[in-house]
Amino acid sequence: MEKLLEKLRSKNIQAYVARDCGEARDLALSLIPPGATVAMGNSATLRETGIFDSLVNGAYNVINQFEPGIPAAENLKRRKAGMLADVYFTSANALTLDGELVNIDGKGNRVAAMMFGPDKVVIVVGENKIVKNQDEAWRRLKEKAAPALAEKLGRATPCAKTGVCSDCSSPERICRCYTVINGQMPVDKDRIHVIIVKERLGI
Ligand code: SF4
Repeated sequence: MEKLLEKLRSKNIQAYVARDCGEARDLALSLIPPGATVAMGNSATLRETGIFDSLVNGAYNVINQFEPGIPAAENLKRRKAGMLADVYFTSANALTLDGELVNIDGKGNRVAAMMFGPDKVVIVVGENKIVKNQDEAWRRLKEKAAPALAEKLGRATPCAKTGVCSDCSSPERICRCYTVINGQMPVDKDRIHVIIVKERLGI
């Protein structure tokens, strides 16, 4: 774990370990400057750690694309606004031992915000998402995470039924954007904060 933290820091990414969800939540919320606008990507990890509820129900200036009942146009507007929030919260689909953040996204606003826009990005990752290298990361995403997510979202994709990716051409395909973040520029060394939680979290 220490080597992974050092690897992330060597790539200009701030890195922390949290013993459990409570510690991760407290640390994540402490990274919000007073008065900052906050947005978040869709993430089981943020919900399981209680970070999502704390943001939505707390005294924060939240751009909430997930507010129930909002029209599609308002959802899109908030997704776009979230890409310029002061602080963006999300998880990652995989974290390699070499400190690479590997992600698959559908529309792409989540991975775009991770890469550029928000002044600060807080990424909360359960230790189950740590993998050896990019090959293992893509295998994890295609063989496990994406099919499980498609099933959870009720998508009419082959993988939602079989649990295996067939690189489908379904209109409901959730895998559209594939990204790897391999560090930040030195001037941006306080931008991405990765909190590794010593628990099994997310998909
Ligand atoms: S490409 Fe299609 S089949 Fe493969 S994981 Fe994504 S949605 Fe499922």
